[in-house]
Amino acid sequence: MPKIGFIGVGHMGGPMARNLIKVGHSLKVYDLSEVAVNLMVQSGAERAASTQDAAKGVEYVITMLPGGGDVREVFLNDGVVGAADQGTLFIDSSTIDVESAVTVHEAASAAGFEMLDAPVSGGTVGADNATLTFMCGGAKVAFDRAQIVLEGMGKSIFHCGERGQGQVVKICNNMVAGIIALATSEAFVMGEKLGVDRRVLYDIMSTSSANSWVLNNACPLPSGVPGVVANNGFKPGFMAKLMLKDLRLSQAAAQLAGSATPLGAAAAAAYQQHINNGHGDLDNSSICKLIDPEIE
Ligand code: NAD
Repeated sequence: MPKIGFIGVGHMGGPMARNLIKVGHSLKVYDLSEVAVNLMVQSGAERAASTQDAAKGVEYVITMLPGGGDVREVFLNDGVVGAADQGTLFIDSSTIDVESAVTVHEAASAAGFEMLDAPVSGGTVGADNATLTFMCGGAKVAFDRAQIVLEGMGKSIFHCGERGQGQVVKICNNMVAGIIALATSEAFVMGEKLGVDRRVLYDIMSTSSANSWVLNNACPLPSGVPGVVANNGFKPGFMAKLMLKDLRLSQAAAQLAGSATPLGAAAAAAYQQHINNGHGDLDNSSICKLIDPEIE
């Protein structure tokens, strides 16, 4: 099995790296957090001394970092590309802006390396269960080479197109999810204020034209649906502050494309307000509190 360097082993990267170890890959990991690295070493990974060290003597380097600035830092300033052996494939699974994704692709390509942007959907549950969806941008040959690694962490693996296009698909998906979460919250609060039980709203909307993944998995009101995060005090799940990050990326992408996204802009403004109200660490479905602050 190929050897992998893994940089960024936080909430997502940690379980993803652990799943790679479980299926037999040997891993060298680096993270700014020593605690995060210690946990990985306990799971059988080798400790890398730096980002450069994580990229040496491996066939794949996976990065799972918070934002575009972090990815640019690791690729452009830390010298990861210069440290890697010829033939190493870079896979960046962070969710970042399209421009940063293209910039690091170009840096890798200029040094003779293949790269994929491969952001994921499925959250920490998907990362734990190795059921993530990967949206990959880059050359088809790189996509084919990445299969052996990606299939250890995910269930659905898509080639979206050229460099940066994995990020485009991820950003489009999350912009829609944010808009639907806000729209669903508005409808539930309004319906209930007009006297309809939230469960009745759910039962009918989920079999009608308002049905969605968001409605079924992140229904906004507690007890609207058994088993959803709202019932557990909006414990994440996918945090509201991460939804805001993705909605902001959608607005940067809209500007890059010269494309109008008025609903995306409205959702970004709503999540910004929600976070200003101190709810950034709650699940994103807590956006219903912006519509009705009384909801617990
Ligand atoms: P996280 O903050 O838990 O993990 C990121 C890790 O990167 C941290 O451990 C941090 O110490 C490390 N790091 C930051 N800069 C570094 C550097 N220069 N060198 C080495 N390590 C560095 O974040 P996360 O929740 O794991 O998210 C990672 C990415 O996945 C983000 O882009 C996020 O948007 C995306 N994502 C997250 C979720 C989710 O549910 N959490 C779902 C889908 C996608």
